[in-house]
Amino acid sequence: MERPRDHCIRCGECCLRSSPSLQITDAPLVYEGVIKRSDLYSVRVGELVWDNIRDELKVTDTELIKVREKGSGEGCVFYDDAEKACTIYGHRPAQCKALACWDESEFMRVYAKPKAGRKEIIHDHTLFRLIDEHEKRCAYAQLDKCVKKIESDGEKAVENILQILKFDHDIRCLIPEKLGVDSDEIDLILGRSLTKTIAMFGLKVVRKPDGSFFLTVLDSSS
Ligand code: SF4
Ligand code: SF4
Repeated sequence: MERPRDHCIRCGECCLRSSPSLQITDAPLVYEGVIKRSDLYSVRVGELVWDNIRDELKVTDTELIKVREKGSGEGCVFYDDAEKACTIYGHRPAQCKALACWDESEFMRVYAKPKAGRKEIIHDHTLFRLIDEHEKRCAYAQLDKCVKKIESDGEKAVENILQILKFDHDIRCLIPEKLGVDSDEIDLILGRSLTKTIAMFGLKVVRKPDGSFFLTVLDSSS
């Protein structure tokens, strides 16, 4: 009979399954350049996210800073497939250090501690004014309210959703253009584009030839 595992064999399965979110204690990894801002994205309050603990999708009530994944279901961006190793192993985030697939107690202890949010990672006042404005206009709670009104208010509710999507889209273009911020950092600064995450409401955005948005129901096969 196979003995239960009691140490890490560096098989990489956990790195291929998902990526960590940052705890507050991980913030220096960003300032010191181990993790670039473009390696991260924000999950905003109210956004649907995969809960690694419960193995299910949930709407988050806490802002999270996640390490990017390589693609859907292809694991953490820092995992080197050829070398079968973490490229930042000596400086990996707290959740990775605590992870032991045979015993979750240390991971749970670390996971319960305060998570990093954008305030811990971004210290630029101008950017934060824009982040606040974006939150005011594009909060998931606001979007949720509009989506729920589609049935009763029809076109008016759809128009409100389109305005939110448009603001989100425009500010994403404006920040790199006006402030010289790397466009790869926008998913950290503003969270993922609403034109993608709108899928959590069962909706899809189609871009018309004139650049305007058209809202439609998400095809369950897409
Ligand atoms: S913690 Fe477990 S799954 Fe992760 S690399 Fe080690 S042995 Fe593999
Ligand atoms: S940071 Fe390193 S240890 Fe953590 S999930 Fe990514 S590849 Fe694995």
